[in-house]
Amino acid sequence: MTLDGFDVLAGLSDMALIISFIRRLSEHKKLLTPICCDIFGRSISESERKYEVPSIKYDLIVIGAGIIGLSTAMKLLERFPNTKLAIIEKNEKEGTQQSGHNSGVIHSGIYYRPGSFKADFCVAGRSSMTQFCLENEIPVWTCGKLIVASDDAGVDRLNTLEKRGTANKVEGLRMVDQDEMKEIEPHVVAKKALYAPGTGIVDYRNVTAVYADKVREAGGDIHFNTALKGSKTLKGATILNTTSGDFETTNTINCAGLHSDVVAETMGVHTGLRIIPFRGEYYKLRKESEYLVKGLIYPVPDPAFPFLGVHLTQTMKGWVEAGPNAVLATKREGYRKRDFSMSEFLRTITFPGFWKMSLREWKMGVWEINRSLRKGIFLDSLQKLVPELTANDLHGTGSGVRAQAVDRDGNLLDDFRIEESRGAIHVLNAPSPGATSSLVIGDYIANMAVKNFGLQSSKKTPFS
Ligand SMILES: Cc1cc2nc3c(=O)[nH]c(=O)nc-3n(C[C@H](O)[C@H](O)[C@H](O)COP(=O)(O)OP(=O)(O)OC[C@H]3O[C@@H](n4cnc5c(N)ncnc54)[C@H](O)[C@@H]3O)c2cc1C
Repeated sequence: MTLDGFDVLAGLSDMALIISFIRRLSEHKKLLTPICCDIFGRSISESERKYEVPSIKYDLIVIGAGIIGLSTAMKLLERFPNTKLAIIEKNEKEGTQQSGHNSGVIHSGIYYRPGSFKADFCVAGRSSMTQFCLENEIPVWTCGKLIVASDDAGVDRLNTLEKRGTANKVEGLRMVDQDEMKEIEPHVVAKKALYAPGTGIVDYRNVTAVYADKVREAGGDIHFNTALKGSKTLKGATILNTTSGDFETTNTINCAGLHSDVVAETMGVHTGLRIIPFRGEYYKLRKESEYLVKGLIYPVPDPAFPFLGVHLTQTMKGWVEAGPNAVLATKREGYRKRDFSMSEFLRTITFPGFWKMSLREWKMGVWEINRSLRKGIFLDSLQKLVPELTANDLHGTGSGVRAQAVDRDGNLLDDFRIEESRGAIHVLNAPSPGATSSLVIGDYIANMAVKNFGLQSSKKTPFS
């Protein structure tokens, strides 16, 4: 072999090394695939680069294994058992976000505008949730709720609330006199009180776990640690690009909670809404002070604000909670005060609706921040319900983050918002009482799927 021959061989072996290096890299990093393909002479378009032909194909994929995604999947499989259905969930188990960080109340439907989705779904949801828990041996307690007014303005609002609740046909709702109020909650001091005996409590983490079991038993797949990253339509099917590879589906349901606006955009739907995250912080009551709260004690809410105000709640977790407040969170899953995400914060503050909302509600915002930072102010709110409470009774903290949709005019969406696009349904606003209403919302979405996806239903449901 001549020197020239050696040069050729060396050149060839260098080339082989480079090719094998690129190939190996491409096995690890999908983004490099197009470079290799170009080298090997295959022409690949930009859109094909990010997506592979998936090995798993589904009729329907639900994004998000929270209480809404799971109940939707469960209801769909009950009605269409032959559907090949999967849920993709970015976390390692179900119910880790809002569905696992809430007050655990089975609301009875008092607060909501008659005729709204919230009113109808919550009233029906209370009985279906209670029944579901009893049938599935999930610990549940119908402990009743007292809503109290401590001043004249509050009494006026309480009267309006009673009319609303009555219009919504809330079972057993009634004003109680001072004697009955003391019988229900001996430590409450108030001018007037409204009682909803059908309100209950449950640990929604138990509910989501049972929903997940039922989805699996009915043949559905749940892919955990699988976050949606991108989506595209290819020959009538949708390819969902996730952290676990690509999935092909005919239809998609977006139940991504705190990320539902981002997921909708990823799927090419521009809703004009943005999720603004509001953290709700809780204290626990000291064991020795739990006797101060028998069931659920709530203030009359401010009708201008979608949140119910800090309340005292017995829980099925084995303690009494006080809260939650409502503070703007700088990260969507920001459960601690110090949690911050620059990209998510920028997404909030670059939305015109955020500034319009802030201009309107800045006083409330500043007050909530103050209450979050100063236990004394938090305590003041609670003492309006139970004056015997002291700072020593409150300890520990917990929190949840609400996914509150806000429109471009800065309005906080009050009602549930579920919208359709071609081959997809998007749950864009599912705040409280979303957990209470989850079975009814699941049925409602299954009915939408009949129309939008052409699924054939064999069962009739209340909202068909
Ligand atoms: C503080 C607080 C108190 C509340 N109290 C009550 C109450 O007492 N009673 C009541 O009825 N309701 C209450 N609610 C409301 C209730 O918790 C919600 O309505 C309900 O949990 C919403 O469920 P969800 O499935 O829509 O959202 P989530 O539970 O947030 O689930 C969404 C899921 O989507 C996943 N996901 C997001 N993005 C992606 C992605 N890109 N890829 C894959 N997966 C993704 C998330 O990880 C998450 O698991 C409360 C809420 C809060 C925050």
